[in-house]
Amino acid sequence: MTRTAGDTLLKIPGRGKDVSGKGEPLQIIRITHEVKDGRNIHGLELGLKNLEKIMFHPDVKGYPVVIISIAGSFRKGKSFLLGFFLKYLESQTKGDWLRKDDKIKGFEWRGGTERVTSGIHIWSKPFICKNKDGEKVAVLLMDTQGVFDNESTVKDNVSLFALTNLISSVQIYNLMQQLQEDDLHHLEFFTAFGKLVAGESDETDTCINNTKFIYLIRDWGYPYDYSYGEDGGNRYIKKQLEINSNQHEELKELRKKLGKYFPNIGGCLLPHPGKAVVTKKAFDGKVKDMDDNFVENVKSFVVHLLSKEMLIAKRIHNKTLTGEDIVKYIKAYVDLLKK
Ligand code: GDP
Ligand code: MG
Repeated sequence: MTRTAGDTLLKIPGRGKDVSGKGEPLQIIRITHEVKDGRNIHGLELGLKNLEKIMFHPDVKGYPVVIISIAGSFRKGKSFLLGFFLKYLESQTKGDWLRKDDKIKGFEWRGGTERVTSGIHIWSKPFICKNKDGEKVAVLLMDTQGVFDNESTVKDNVSLFALTNLISSVQIYNLMQQLQEDDLHHLEFFTAFGKLVAGESDETDTCINNTKFIYLIRDWGYPYDYSYGEDGGNRYIKKQLEINSNQHEELKELRKKLGKYFPNIGGCLLPHPGKAVVTKKAFDGKVKDMDDNFVENVKSFVVHLLSKEMLIAKRIHNKTLTGEDIVKYIKAYVDLLKK
């Protein structure tokens, strides 16, 4: 029998079954590496069973799907941050959802330099929330990690991020310390590539335009210029995307394109999480070991991002995306990449 990508049940190594019923991160896309005739062959592998397990979950099936995605290179605290999102959603977005004694866990996050497998993971359990019109939507958390440490995987990274931009309602692009011109180029490149694969059409454009895109800057060092949080973040990003007469034509062009792709672009600036988080080998996710300023800012970011106004299901082909659509869409996308 021929093995197809769909036969592969991908699983984060070292994780057990979801015995608690609280959910677990399931890998739905993996970047593969293979040496064939002395050549390095890369590709995207679909974890169809995992994807179907999530998208055909009885809770997902009946509701429009809202994917909250975080993407960026490895060891920048993405999975760690998603742990806060999980905590909030598990509390059913009520009351005192983060206490000093709580521990942040869920998506696998790691100290040290070792990387957890690249690709896309989605938390297996959907969270049913109400949007601003009082309708129920299924919220899914998605973690995407690329490999920016190897030239030959550029195409895979681009494919990975382009796909997440297409299917997510909110895309958080996670960066350390500041936004550089390169980061803007990357976003333009990912988006142009996604348009190419998904097909140049008004539908594809609307689909990308619908994404709320947020540059999240970690370890922000200039709070006196731009304050922590969304206000400072939005002002900072606006400034970086500003077009002025002194800029080279290329820089102006890039900013015009990004403005067109993402009318809904914003930013958030987070302080450093504290020495214990970064340097203590024994750090196990306890909130009390983190800097208060970090905790307060993460809390407001999470509450803002998961507020009713932000829970907008993606629309493709004039139809709100359901779990079944997402399976079809991802399958088609991965197939197109193989051609
Ligand atoms: P990911 O590869 O981007 O998903 O990163 P992880 O979430 O696995 O975290 C990698 C390491 O970064 C862990 O040791 C975390 O404790 C640490 N970390 C988490 N958040 C931050 C942050 O905001 N700033 C810094 N400097 N380190 C962080
Ligand atoms: Mg991670």
